[in-house]
Amino acid sequence: MIWNPNKECMSRDEMSALQGKRLHKIVEYVYHNVPFYRHKLQEMDLTPDDIRSIDDIVKLPYTTKKDLRDNYPFGLQAAPQSEIIRIHASSGTTGNPTIVGYTRKDIGVWSECMARCLTAYGVGREDIFSVSYGYGLFTGGLGAHNGVEMVGASVVPASTGNTEKHARLIRDLGITGIACTPSYALYLAETMEQLGITKDQIKLRVGAFGAEPWTESMREEIQERLGLKGFNLYGLSEIMGPSVSYECQMQNGSHINEDHFYPEIINPVTLEPLPKGQPGELVFTTLTKEGMPVLRYRTRDLCSLMAGDCDCGRTSVRMTPITGRSDDMLIIRGINVFPSQVESVVLSMKEFAPRYLLVVNRVNNLDTLEVQVELRQEYFTATFDTPAAIDELQKRLAAKLRSVLSIGVKVSLKAPNAIERSQGKSVRVIDNRKLK
Ligand code: ADP
Ligand code: ZN
Repeated sequence: MIWNPNKECMSRDEMSALQGKRLHKIVEYVYHNVPFYRHKLQEMDLTPDDIRSIDDIVKLPYTTKKDLRDNYPFGLQAAPQSEIIRIHASSGTTGNPTIVGYTRKDIGVWSECMARCLTAYGVGREDIFSVSYGYGLFTGGLGAHNGVEMVGASVVPASTGNTEKHARLIRDLGITGIACTPSYALYLAETMEQLGITKDQIKLRVGAFGAEPWTESMREEIQERLGLKGFNLYGLSEIMGPSVSYECQMQNGSHINEDHFYPEIINPVTLEPLPKGQPGELVFTTLTKEGMPVLRYRTRDLCSLMAGDCDCGRTSVRMTPITGRSDDMLIIRGINVFPSQVESVVLSMKEFAPRYLLVVNRVNNLDTLEVQVELRQEYFTATFDTPAAIDELQKRLAAKLRSVLSIGVKVSLKAPNAIERSQGKSVRVIDNRKLK
């Protein structure tokens, strides 16, 4: 099933023409309504009339998270306050949070995009769907919620927290779908196991997982433990929230709602646009947003755009899974390290639970990387009092990490549940170097 074939299955020529028309309109709109963009365009000697087709996008300036922070709270808002009907804020671990205002039309577009995602996952009117992203300033909860209502399934606004109650509701209501972070899905699976709720007592069949990077092995693990099929859901508050892109039944990349969010991939160092297929930093221009439109927003997320059509019938361009962020990339002794590389090694070994933490320190001017991992209960019970077995496992993991990361790593094995759980996005890195 496809929610909106008119938009999701357009020919390339039609799509480019629509994008070009919308780009011209949005540039004109920000030129007249956002002084920040008007000044930027004037500095570059550009007027909205210079932007006529989608290929003209390369003439436009980039927007960064810093621009949003510098213009806190409402500096980039284009619509008058009387038109804004909702305000979200991104978590922003450092500095000011990013404030995003939505007009009624924006909320409508968002719901439509989310409905496209859910339909691609196979969610329909008969489903009972639990939204377990946090409700509140974070866009995950309410964003997914509106889409479920638009599709016409019964939404259960479970949010995060109170996981035992949620686990029982999944069993008692016969909940069939869930949207949450992949780490919360695993936490939920653990909670169910502790409560003695088994897979055959529940009806979950679809999971919409996102808000943080995850890997194929994590997908397999969640699918196995909850008995559902897990789909990727990608988004960010600066562009809209969840529903910027979504996996279809082919699960070969995530389709971008490119009639609303125009994607580019750039080299994060030279800022030069890259051709399809090449990995780099993902950049989005909102083509229809009224509240806070952005031109060429640098997401810092690393991935590539895929060439070729998908077998599902949708023609929208697909993006590969996010492999890391160009800003949370760690540089340890001059070598680039992504937490996702560590994750893939940890998950490839059956002895470990999918919980890990990277701790970076600087000792005598030398960077050190410690990887803490949690043993699975079964393995822990069977072998933890055998020092030789622990030693062997520790060495095996350290060797694998060294070959993948090209740097030496100290491995610390932890007892089950020793690494702190998160209900939203997990903390994967503690970089103590910044504190000095
Ligand atoms: P906050 O800034 O409050 O953490 P955002 O909604 O802005 O919340 O977070 C968006 C970021 O979350 C994205 O830029 C990306 O790094 C990450 N993200 C969201 N969905 C996915 C996904 N499906 N896969 C990988 N990363 C994701
Ligand atoms: Zn597809």
